[in-house]
Amino acid sequence: MRLKDKVAIITGAGRGIGQATALKFAREGAKVMVCDINQDWIDETVKLCKAAGGDAIGQVADVRDMKSLEAMVKSTVDKWGRVDCLVNNAGIVADAQLKNMTEEQFDRVIDINLKGVYNCTKAVVNKMLEQQSGVILNASSIVGLYGNFGQTNYAAAKFGVIGMAKTWARELGRKGIRSNAVCPGFISTPIISSVPEKVIHALEDRVPMGRLGKPEEIANTFAFLASDEASYINGAVIEVNGGLTI
Ligand code: NAP
Repeated sequence: MRLKDKVAIITGAGRGIGQATALKFAREGAKVMVCDINQDWIDETVKLCKAAGGDAIGQVADVRDMKSLEAMVKSTVDKWGRVDCLVNNAGIVADAQLKNMTEEQFDRVIDINLKGVYNCTKAVVNKMLEQQSGVILNASSIVGLYGNFGQTNYAAAKFGVIGMAKTWARELGRKGIRSNAVCPGFISTPIISSVPEKVIHALEDRVPMGRLGKPEEIANTFAFLASDEASYINGAVIEVNGGLTI
């Protein structure tokens, strides 16, 4: 098992890519803290992890709220004594073309997708420094690399988390802490459920592999990066998109 006895916190783990990541980590032997804003989805993910023979607990925490994050990290450390990996996965969209985007839409996406990543990492970094080991993984997006129609706010946040991953790779590398960003293409999860079917088909046509990605395919990437097999991968930005951007 790739992640045997490693302790991992995964944000936004109630569904989508986060849930698939929690499940993958649990199957690979990790002890998983399932963090989300929805208790029912947390319970569901914890149940799935346990059914797969893994070890998991869950706690509601909003990545905008430092107090809830500190409490969630404390629960993790009280239970398992350490934090080996943080997957900064929680994220939202609030799309509109620039001319129509409201300040509220812009701020909401920045607060969760950008500042949320900063908040979570602040909440775990001292523990990782004390351990002199750890892995930080930021969920970015191909939109953070190339931009996308109607996603000024999302592109800004996803570009920002790449910058933070690289900064932490420089700041923390000598302390035994690695930091990387993963840029998924279009993945079949609830976040893209609002995209019209016609647009989904058009997207599929643009992917050389002819299909959208599966949450498990991003989860596999996070699991590899969290494992010791990725021990020299630091400050990397890894695209997982079926060839969409070539
Ligand atoms: P998802 O299915 O919507 O799951 C995201 C999870 O994060 C949801 O359970 C969500 O809860 C939770 N969340 C939202 N706000 C939160 C907060 N303030 N604090 C804690 N948790 C919060 O999304 P996904 O498609 O799995 O995406 C996961 C990550 O990958 C995101 O960062 C996304 O931007 C990125 N990504 C996704 C795609 C894609 O095509 N799916 C592509 C590139 C990058 P609610 O549902 O209640 O909001």
